[in-house]
Amino acid sequence: MPSRFIFITGGVTSSLGKGLASACLAALLQARGFSVLLRKLDPYLNVDPGTMSPYQHGEVFVTDDGTEADLDLGHYERFSGVAGKATDYITTGKIYSTVLAKERRGDYLGATVQVIPHITDEMKRFILSNTEGADFVLCEIGGTVGDIECLPYLEAIRQLRNDLGRDRVMFIHLTLLPYIPTAGELKTKPTQHSVKALLSVGIQADLLLCRCDRPIPMEEKRKLALFCNVSSENVIAALDADNIYRVPLQYHAEGFDEQVCRYFGLNDAPADLEKWKKVCASIDTVSGVVRIAIVGKYVQLLDAYKSLIQALMHGGMANRLKVELSFIDSEKEPDIEAALANVDGIVIPGGFGERGVAGKLQAITIARTKKIPTLGICFGMQLTVIEACRNLLHIENASSTEFGLTDEPIVGLMTEWMDEQGIQKRCAGGDLGGTMRLGAYPCNLKSGSLVEKMYATSAISERHRHRYEVNTAYEDRLESVGLSFSGFSPDGTLPEIVEYKDHPWYVGVQFHPELKSRPFAPHPLFVGLLKAAFDHQQKS
Ligand code: GLN
Repeated sequence: MPSRFIFITGGVTSSLGKGLASACLAALLQARGFSVLLRKLDPYLNVDPGTMSPYQHGEVFVTDDGTEADLDLGHYERFSGVAGKATDYITTGKIYSTVLAKERRGDYLGATVQVIPHITDEMKRFILSNTEGADFVLCEIGGTVGDIECLPYLEAIRQLRNDLGRDRVMFIHLTLLPYIPTAGELKTKPTQHSVKALLSVGIQADLLLCRCDRPIPMEEKRKLALFCNVSSENVIAALDADNIYRVPLQYHAEGFDEQVCRYFGLNDAPADLEKWKKVCASIDTVSGVVRIAIVGKYVQLLDAYKSLIQALMHGGMANRLKVELSFIDSEKEPDIEAALANVDGIVIPGGFGERGVAGKLQAITIARTKKIPTLGICFGMQLTVIEACRNLLHIENASSTEFGLTDEPIVGLMTEWMDEQGIQKRCAGGDLGGTMRLGAYPCNLKSGSLVEKMYATSAISERHRHRYEVNTAYEDRLESVGLSFSGFSPDGTLPEIVEYKDHPWYVGVQFHPELKSRPFAPHPLFVGLLKAAFDHQQKS
């Protein structure tokens, strides 16, 4: 069948979980046997989120093909299992750069280049291209209806409904029904206004997905249907959930996927929700609680660790353990030792810059000496190696060139490496945007290593996002004090993994394993870390 397009817009306020809603709908459509593609169109002017502060935008999600994307692409992958690609993420900034490059080339042949049609055409081209084989293409429009920035996207999707026809395009609007305690009611007015704002740019919502903290009484559904010009069956409650992996089943119980299929006249395929039931069962039947500390500097905005938190949850689910997380501010926590006193496992996550490094190094020393199961990710691996050089090899000045010039560059700027496009070259002072080592790279695991046991294979592929690399010049000395280099790029030049031989479970990885973990396919390193954390707890 030709691809159907579902556009998900958000109203009333941001942070209602459009990304999660889109991902859950995709999972439900898959459960009915349909193939899906998920895309996000973000309204800001950055070309990608790679240069944005984690405090503002949360985590930067990286796809296999090296696209730096919004964290919603992480939700998409975790719920649908479909790996995102460059063709699944766009920003207004990227659209404008494409249009401006065409204008400079003379492609518009004397035309006045305008938002309509040139920007909107480019948006439509993005939405319609590379959709082969997808029964449904779900496109989430970032931002909130009413924002100036969203307007060109709304215009583009309005046009697409005319171009493709009603039977191939559906508009879903996610809104908020706030409960006002003094009135004792869920209020529909903000939703009515949001639907009107959408209508004023020519888009009639076909289905309302309403975030609420309690079920919507029939009377309120009828009211919304009447004022918003939808059927009352198409007013779907999106109730708050204590665990995001319960949401697909909740949506299904509300008739969400049924109404979407009915809209497109595709009612015959029943939903097979076995795998979601199993996921919920693994949340409900835990046999223990483990405490994991994340020692990082972006802890004021937990979205900065979105995929990491999810991967830890998956590791817990695989071991039937509840994971209790504590977030330790590596810059501001005055007593790291006390903060780590009762934890069963530690994660030293990725990061950039020298701020907060001292706290992370201290946490690493504690993890190493007290034999607490630990996973160091990217920056966490680099600092693991620096800590070993300083405290085990007594190289006092051991440092990274990321922090300035050093005579002991344990971690140094990567100036050349190979990828599928050929040799990549970088230099200090070059552009910051899109120039890191990004995306999936193969890695070979040392035979007999802990990681080989964890992965149950000796060749893996993992996603990267970093500019600096551990210097192999220190490898032999580090091996002699027990820090083994157990994973390398296939050409043997780039160290990808280190692990302590005389430690129950300490692994440092140059890549980001959290980006590939899914509830149905928990990442082996997180499964291993959680198991080791549980064993550590049982022993102490
Ligand atoms: N700042 C380090 C680098 O650029 C680590 C990056 C990260 O942790 N993602 O190499």
